[in-house]
Formats: sequence, C-alpha cells, structure tokens
Amino acid sequence: MAAERGKGARAKLRAYFLANVGRVLESDELRNASGNASEWGRRVRELRNEEGYQILTHNDRSNLKPGQYVLLDPKPTPAFARGISKETRALVLDRNGFTCQKCGAVAGEPHPFDPTRKTRLQIGHIIDKSMGGSDSPTNLRAECSVCNEGGKNLTLDRPSLQKLLIQVRRATGGDQVEVLRWLIQKFREQTAAILTEK
Ligand SMILES: [Zn+2]
Repeated sequence: MAAERGKGARAKLRAYFLANVGRVLESDELRNASGNASEWGRRVRELRNEEGYQILTHNDRSNLKPGQYVLLDPKPTPAFARGISKETRALVLDRNGFTCQKCGAVAGEPHPFDPTRKTRLQIGHIIDKSMGGSDSPTNLRAECSVCNEGGKNLTLDRPSLQKLLIQVRRATGGDQVEVLRWLIQKFREQTAAILTEK
C-alpha cells in the first residue's frame, strides 16, 4: 500500500518536473504536485538516482537556494549510473575513498571550487558509455556532481608528480606537515603499511 502510494507520488512529481523543465521549483510547489506525499523528497531523489533525471539542487548549483529544484533536461541521462546496482555503487565509492577522482573533492565536505556547496558524489564512467564503455566496476569511478555534470572547464589538470614534489619540497615545514597530516588521514592503511616496511 505504502509502496503503491509512493509510486503514485513519484509519477505525479515526474509529470510535474517534465511539464516545468528548466524552471526553478520550490519545495511547497513540489509537495503539492506530489499530492502532499509525506516522503515527496525521497520520491524526488528516486527520480534522480533511480530514473536518471537531472534534477539539481543547491548542492549542485550555487544559484539555487536550499529547497529549490530544477530539472535540466526532459531526457534522463546515463551519467547518473542507471542500471548500476547499489552494491556496485558502494564498492566503487569505497574503493575511491569517497573522493571525486577528477578534482579530489570529498563527499559531504565543501566543494573546492565552490565552498558553499556540499560535495555530492556520483558514479561516472571512465570510458563513456557512448564510446562503448561498460557498467562494469572496472570502468566506474566516483565523480562529484560538478565534474560529472560537465563542470569540466572548472576542473584543473592534475599536476605531474614531479611538479607536485617540487612544490611540496619548496613549501614551509609547517605546510609540509599539513600535507602529511592530510595524506595520513586519507591513506591510513597505506601509512601503516609504509611505517612497518623494514
Ligand atoms: Zn570533482
């Protein structure tokens, strides 16, 4: 019964978003559109995560306020990793340390390119599906919503190891310790392994 009601609310929301593509929708409006479903927010997340609709919130776009939503495209996008199981998503996110593999943003933390936004991770394809890439975990990686949604112009190129080491070596001792602290926190297991090397 509850599931049935949920489906009804989701269908209503889907229809409402599709009738308002590109328009910023407020939460009151969406709650009404769902038939005042108590879990309308969850239904919106299902449209995004399960059906692949590009519904953006303030976490994705800095010009949106909390409680505002906008559907960009009537066509669901494969970039939201449809058809990828929850288990695979969890595996990939865990393997990637809950860190965007393009820009290094960490899930739940302020985004490095826009600290007013919380980093939300999605599953992206290393080789795009349009280029024949598969949904296999080996072709998947964690990407933040900024990188995943074509914020590519914002994404800096990765520095080469050589340049990076030069930068770190030239930094003050205090800054080097900060880098060390950050690396240890990010790579706890590797740190322990390195420290026990003979
Ligand atoms: Zn990113």
